[in-house]
Amino acid sequence: MLKSSLRRVRRAHRHIAAKLFGAHSACCLACLLLLANTASAEWHYEKQAIMGTEVSVQLWHENAAEAEALIEGVMAEFRRLDDELSPYKKNSELSRVNRDAGRQTVELSAELAALIDKSLWYSEQTGGAFDISYATLGKHYDFRQHKRADTATTKQLLKALNYHNLQFDSAKRTLHFGHPQTRIDLGGIAKGYAVDRAIDILRRAGVHHASVSAGGDSRMIGDKRGQPWLVGIRHPRDKSKNAAVIPLTDTAISTSGDYERFFIDDHHQRVHHIFNPATGRPTETGDGGRGDSDRLISVSIIGPQGFDTDPLSTSVFVLGKQKGLALIDRLPGFEAVVIDSNRRLYFSHGLEQPD
Ligand code: ADP
Ligand code: MG
Repeated sequence: MLKSSLRRVRRAHRHIAAKLFGAHSACCLACLLLLANTASAEWHYEKQAIMGTEVSVQLWHENAAEAEALIEGVMAEFRRLDDELSPYKKNSELSRVNRDAGRQTVELSAELAALIDKSLWYSEQTGGAFDISYATLGKHYDFRQHKRADTATTKQLLKALNYHNLQFDSAKRTLHFGHPQTRIDLGGIAKGYAVDRAIDILRRAGVHHASVSAGGDSRMIGDKRGQPWLVGIRHPRDKSKNAAVIPLTDTAISTSGDYERFFIDDHHQRVHHIFNPATGRPTETGDGGRGDSDRLISVSIIGPQGFDTDPLSTSVFVLGKQKGLALIDRLPGFEAVVIDSNRRLYFSHGLEQPD
C-alpha cells in the first residue's frame, strides 16, 4: 500500500513537471518575476537536544531573521515545558506533585491539569494500558545503568501503580495520590503535547510549511511545498534503515518502539521503556525468536495532533496488535502502522487500500 501511494506521489510530480515545461513562454516570464519576488524565501533548519531527545524544526520562510526568531521561540517553548514536566528536575511542577501528592491534595497549573486529564481519558479508553502512574515502578529503572526493579519491589509496588489511585478533580484542578507510593510521569504524552505547542507558535506567525519533531513525535504544517512530507518509520532492529516511508501532509505522527531506551539483560531479554501497567514490567514484546505475532516492537499513529498520537502510540504498543488496531479503528481520524515481533508490517483499516 505504501509503495503504491509513493508511486502515485511520484507520478503526480512527473505530471506537474511535464505541464510546467510545456507552458507558454509568457508564462515563464511571469514565473521569473515570481521567483525574483520570493528569491530570499528558503528552508530554515535547527536541531537541539531538549527533553532527553533531539528536537528539530524545519520551516519555509521569506525572512531569515524572522525564521531564526521563530525557531528560537519554539526551542524556548520546549525548554519551558521540560522545566515544568521533567521528572529529573527537582524544581519542575511534576517533581513537586510527586513529592507532595501522596501526603496531601495539591493544586495544579492549568497546563499540568490538562495533561493529566487527557492521560486519564486514555487510561479509560485503553483499559489501563496507558497509565502515567507506571512511574511508580518506572522510576526504579535506569536503562543506561542496566538497572531494573527487582521482583520484591515490583510485587510490593504493583498496587500503587494504578491510575485509579489518582484522585483528580478537573474543575478544582487538584490531585491526590490514593496510595502514598504512587508516582506519575508524562514521558508518554509530554513530547506530543510540546510538538503541538510548537506548531501553534509557527501557525500563529503565519507559517504555511513546517515540520517539528521531538524524538518519535512529529507534526507538519501544510506540505513540503508541492509534495508531501516523507516521514520514515525506522527499522526497529537496524538504525540505518527505514521500515516504511509515509507521505504525509498537515498531520501528526508518533512512533513508539522498544529500541529507543533499553538494555539486554543476562538472559538475553530486552528490558525497555514502555511498561505494561498490569505487570509493572516492560511490555512483553515476544522478540528474540519466539515470534508471538500479537506482540509489537514498533507502533506509529497518525492523527491530527501529538497530544493524541503520542499517548496512542504508547497505548497500542502495550495493547498488542489485535486490541491496539481495534482501538485505532474505533477512533475516528486516527490510523496506525505497526510492526509485530515477526517483523511484519500491519495497518489500520483506513490505510489498507485495495491495490
Ligand atoms: P518516546 O519517549 O520514545 O517518544 P513513547 O511515546 O513510546 O516514547 O513513550 C514511552 C514513554 O512513555 C516512556 O519512556 C515512559 O516515560 C512513558 N510510559 C511507559 N509506559 C507507559 C504506559 N504504560 N503508560 C503511559 N506512559 C508510559
Ligand atoms: Mg507515545
